[in-house]
Amino acid sequence: MSELLYTPKNAYEVLSAEEIKEAYDYCEGYKKFLDNGKTERTCVSYSIEIAKAHGFVEFVDGKKYNAGDKVYVNQKNKSAIFAVIGSESPEKGFNITAGHIDAPRLDIRPNPLYEDGNMAYLKTHYYGGIRKYQWTTIPLSLIGVICKKDGTTVNVNIGEDENDPVFYITDLLPHLAKDNKPIQGEDLNIVIGSSFDKEEKENKIKKAVLKILNEKYGVTECDFQTAELTIVPAAKAKDVGLDRSLIGSYGHDDRVCSYPAFTSLLSLDKPEKTSVAFLVDKEEIGSAGITGMRSAFVTDFLLALCDGYNARIAFKNSAALSTDVGAAFDPTFPEAYEKRNSAFINCGPAICKYTGSRGKSGASDACPEFIAKLAGIFDANNVLYQFCELGRIDQGGGGTVAQFIADRNIEVLDVGVAMLSMHAPYELASKTDIYMLHKLCKAFYENY
Ligand code: MN
Ligand code: MN
Repeated sequence: MSELLYTPKNAYEVLSAEEIKEAYDYCEGYKKFLDNGKTERTCVSYSIEIAKAHGFVEFVDGKKYNAGDKVYVNQKNKSAIFAVIGSESPEKGFNITAGHIDAPRLDIRPNPLYEDGNMAYLKTHYYGGIRKYQWTTIPLSLIGVICKKDGTTVNVNIGEDENDPVFYITDLLPHLAKDNKPIQGEDLNIVIGSSFDKEEKENKIKKAVLKILNEKYGVTECDFQTAELTIVPAAKAKDVGLDRSLIGSYGHDDRVCSYPAFTSLLSLDKPEKTSVAFLVDKEEIGSAGITGMRSAFVTDFLLALCDGYNARIAFKNSAALSTDVGAAFDPTFPEAYEKRNSAFINCGPAICKYTGSRGKSGASDACPEFIAKLAGIFDANNVLYQFCELGRIDQGGGGTVAQFIADRNIEVLDVGVAMLSMHAPYELASKTDIYMLHKLCKAFYENY
């Protein structure tokens, strides 16, 4: 870093052939994580399964832990916390990463089932920011749980297995699209069946659908009211490009950051500072709710880790990376970006000093002393990174969980993989950037 001018570096210029191979190999695990974790629930169960294989055990509040102990917390099956106990006192502070595992999708409404035009449908309510037209005419899966009043829970997962049927949302044919009306929220109706039993007189397609659900899961129509069912794209994660340098998938935002933060924590043996990775729910709708980053379960866990030491000092000395995606420059839509302050594919994780919109509103705006200290650590560990903003000023904007970490008097910086087609049913991210975020989080955990 002795050059007079700053020039962003591309991973393919600076990485050795071995390290590029390492990056590609690393992403094989990430693709499995994507396919096994299409919802926050499946993400929680899959990551806990991986953590257990790495020696993590369920955290017990009040129990004494020693340096090197590995624990996890399962928050309502929708958020998870993983931690490795450090050798230093909690008052030295915790090293924390926080990514989210919810992603934009369509949720099934409480009274969803109806029939019309010789077909049966489920009504949906979209979750998170979506461009609604993108969710029509693609194969979809139905994933979730039906909690019954008798206290039992049924897991639903249809569309993910190669032999499963999928679901579908129609769009108007171009021949009749003269009015060019955009797809509305109430148009996102899931086709779920069209056959029926000839003995039936009324609601016959609806009844045929319910009969299948009853045989498969023992449920009736009113069980939809106490269920949590979601519609997600059925497509699997795949390499993109002749060179296989990119990955296309549903839900990169924010598994593309949660996974590297999680794997870097798994790689720790006996860190000096207690190291924590939050994989949280609800970011896409404001981090509220009992499984979101604003919930007391986050503070309560950190308090429990203080183990009799002064928690205020522990919090004050803690450092966090809010690991969430950035928007990579898209040359097809240059007008939405300011090129000098945009992130580019393959230039490493994107550091965002502030997010927000309309004059940084809602941003955490990290302290320069903190940013410089982190950047120094990244440089010393050969981590590639870039500084960026999310598009042109007043073009839109967005937020992350950073502000909710800062609310707890914990210093925090936004950093994450810069990606293309964010929030689309099939998003695009680069393998070297994903691998480099793993390296960045590891450098943070081991050196901050
Ligand atoms: Mn995100
Ligand atoms: Mn998002």
